[in-house]
Amino acid sequence: MKLCKLALVFAAALVAPLAACGGDDATSTSSRPIADVTFSEGTTMAALKKKGKIAIGTKFDQPLFGLVGPDGKPEGFDVEVGKIITRQLGMDPETQIEWVETVSANREPFIQNGQVDIVIATYTINDTRKEVIDFAGPYYMAGQSLLVASGNPQKISGPDGLGNNTVCTVTGSTSEANIRKYTNKILPVDRYSDCLEPIRNGQAAALTTDNVILAGLVSQNEGEFELAGDRFTQEPYGIGLKKGDTALRNFINDALETSYKDGAWADAWKQTAGTVLDTPEPPAVDRY
Ligand code: GLU
Repeated sequence: MKLCKLALVFAAALVAPLAACGGDDATSTSSRPIADVTFSEGTTMAALKKKGKIAIGTKFDQPLFGLVGPDGKPEGFDVEVGKIITRQLGMDPETQIEWVETVSANREPFIQNGQVDIVIATYTINDTRKEVIDFAGPYYMAGQSLLVASGNPQKISGPDGLGNNTVCTVTGSTSEANIRKYTNKILPVDRYSDCLEPIRNGQAAALTTDNVILAGLVSQNEGEFELAGDRFTQEPYGIGLKKGDTALRNFINDALETSYKDGAWADAWKQTAGTVLDTPEPPAVDRY
């Protein structure tokens, strides 16, 4: 960095050293916008840059992926992926993102009615959702599992072994749709964190959703909960956007692939979910 500053002071007319410094910054921090990006007139990317704001929907209650911290700002892997995309738009992730809380059930309507520009919120790509919105990605592969109280008092071993126990999950999620194939004894809530109290007081015996969301809740509430059984679904996480905006979808897919190559994706993981979980290989994006 010192050399870069010297280059800036003494050799401002030389393009090569400045480009090298830019590259250096790109790998050492994910907080700076990429300079000099331009987009064709009429694209969503050009419009967002011109407006100087991007509204990103994410979860506010999910440790490791999207959790609002004491300073009021969301933190987590989804949040970092949002910052990576914003940088690639040539915008400043610290000042030009408007974070909007999306819960599982309002993600499609928020995209459809323009309340958010994109959604990055542990959001599974599937055909039902693709009828009304489009997805870039996937940028991570999760799988549904179960969380129970420590010691697993009801001895729940998987979705087949729920017996007469009530399972808490979130309305409008794939988790809810999937668990309905195994049981009707469901306690539906708006946010996964709303399931913890019912488990503590015995109203529900388990919470079901993606393993990584459960891992975040286990790590945040030390000694209280544990995971039970294996993953029983595949949940490819995508970035939701307005249906038919192919240019935006291609741009986000390119941005993801760039982040796979330049290390930004792995850095984002390590700083967030990677504090608790192993670093996976990034999945291939699906340019459907
Ligand atoms: N990935 C699943 C879904 O998109 C469950 C997690 C969530 O509700 O955010 O519905």
